[in-house]
Amino acid sequence: MIIIMHSHVTDEEVRSVEVKLESLGLQAHVSRGVERTIVGAIGDERKIQKETLQALPGVEDVIRVVKPYKIVAREWHEADTVINIKGVPLGGKTIQVIGGPCSVETQTQMDLSAQGVTQAGCRLMRGGAFKPRTSPYAFQGKGVEGLDMFRKAADKYRLPIVTELMDVRMLDTFLEHQVDMIQIGTRNMQNFDLLKEVGKIHTPVILKRGLCATVSEWLMSAEYIAAGGNHNIILCERGVRSFETAYRNMLDVTAIPWLKKETHLPVIVDPSHAGGKAWLVSALSKAAIAAGADGLLVEMHPTPCEAWCDADQALTPEELTALVNELRPLAQALGREL
Ligand code: PEP
Ligand code: MN
Repeated sequence: MIIIMHSHVTDEEVRSVEVKLESLGLQAHVSRGVERTIVGAIGDERKIQKETLQALPGVEDVIRVVKPYKIVAREWHEADTVINIKGVPLGGKTIQVIGGPCSVETQTQMDLSAQGVTQAGCRLMRGGAFKPRTSPYAFQGKGVEGLDMFRKAADKYRLPIVTELMDVRMLDTFLEHQVDMIQIGTRNMQNFDLLKEVGKIHTPVILKRGLCATVSEWLMSAEYIAAGGNHNIILCERGVRSFETAYRNMLDVTAIPWLKKETHLPVIVDPSHAGGKAWLVSALSKAAIAAGADGLLVEMHPTPCEAWCDADQALTPEELTALVNELRPLAQALGREL
């Protein structure tokens, strides 16, 4: 059961709900978001009458949510959540394409990337300064220097940025660099301590699906973030491990409508890591949008063959522009904008 508090709820009103739940033998979990405070009742709900709680001051609604994930469930929040990233909406009618290189390499590469992203008509930029690499001998990212380069390049074009956080010890540095969206990568989808920490702030989080995670496990990871009070979560399908070895991962298109039904959170797709080849990006992007995705995360590099990471899957700036132009009529046919 979740208890949704009025938007101007006072601390005393929240406390009185907690006291009531405790008196009924349940535990209360308070999640304070920017717009909403939600109290989760943990324990045997059958003991409670909805009306008992509904009558308490500050309570807007009481909803029984039977799913294991509560705050992220569509059950209590029918409308799609739209996340505002420095004025750019993600999750509404407009489909957002987040473009940029796999990793931050040099200032020139980032400047050219930001220019390419803008020229393609994208409003958000990606780039990794801390890279989760399979081999410890592979390029690990430029680190803090990379964040500086990214910020500088993106600021020139007023592009909000998304970059991956792997280590909780870097969170303050991310906040100092005003990272607009934090990416939790595939390999950290179930790093629960990391999820709890990003749950304590209000910066939007892109939560990528784990390599072999079920949608239910994925939503439970999102719930970790939401339970802490950060309700600004975007789910990113990026392909899962399968028996197939011909391409990098298998894009789970089925997950898109499934998630749109189960959760009110925006769902985006990363066709680059799903296919692992630049030539697959267009087809997978179209499939994602047709299935209802709210956005795409696409790797683009000024000179893909020189990319320090994931060279095979990077589009050129011209290819990114062509992709956006190709997707626009599709979005329109589906009653959306791009
Ligand atoms: C990335 O987006 O840079 C990345 C490493 O993706 P994933 O976590 O999906 O492998
Ligand atoms: Mn990559």
